[in-house]
Amino acid sequence: MVLRFTLAYIPSEAWLRHSAQSDACSASERAAMTAIGFDFDHTLGTDNQVERFAFVKAASDLGAAHGVAVNGLAAFEAIDREIRSFRAGQCSLEVALRRAFAATLPEAAIDHRAAERFRELAVQMVPSYVRALPGVDALLHALDDALVPYAILTNGWNPLQQRKADAVGFRGPVLVSEDLGVRKPGAGAFAKLGEVLGVDSTDVWYVGDDPHADVGGALSAGMRAIWFDWEGRPYPAELAAPTATIHRIADVLSVVPV
Ligand SMILES: [Mg+2]
Repeated sequence: MVLRFTLAYIPSEAWLRHSAQSDACSASERAAMTAIGFDFDHTLGTDNQVERFAFVKAASDLGAAHGVAVNGLAAFEAIDREIRSFRAGQCSLEVALRRAFAATLPEAAIDHRAAERFRELAVQMVPSYVRALPGVDALLHALDDALVPYAILTNGWNPLQQRKADAVGFRGPVLVSEDLGVRKPGAGAFAKLGEVLGVDSTDVWYVGDDPHADVGGALSAGMRAIWFDWEGRPYPAELAAPTATIHRIADVLSVVPV
């Protein structure tokens, strides 16, 4: 198997053992392997809105330097609205931040480093805000023990998503839409995941909490899809049903043939 380490990624021992075994396998044996793709946010971890707090801190610092008081509520509303647009693929992060800063501060208080400062703060704040969901650590260790390859495919920006994955002890590749140039639910994003995992699409089980981006995207790409329903939300009737539904992340192991 050929792994392309184009992203910041240090392979775990288990992954290297898996890779060595994969290289020794015939094509038919490789095709029989199972691999797992994960969404990150609200699947492996929660970030407790770290971007929102990083933005308010960045805006407040800029405001203070120019003698301008920032309205915290207005700043929250602005960044929430713009990050939603970015996450929905409606604009780049740079555009979202430009709009959010413009809605929060007078033009004279916004300098060219505002967006960069936001990014730095968000990354710095990850350890205080990001938490793994219950059972994630045990699941990842079980997958390592079973030599099952796994990777994250997540919509967002780096290095934030990579740091968030690090914060929950994730040891596999982390594919981030801003780096890939494609995003879920697009088939191109899932194709990149399949390449990194090194197995046929039909042998990839993708686990995520979003029926549209995660389940719909994975199914359209020819993968199996596990809907992680831990927040009690209804599954949209108009979407294709997931291959399986779980309510605890540990139940991945009872669904996927590892
Ligand atoms: Mg999610």
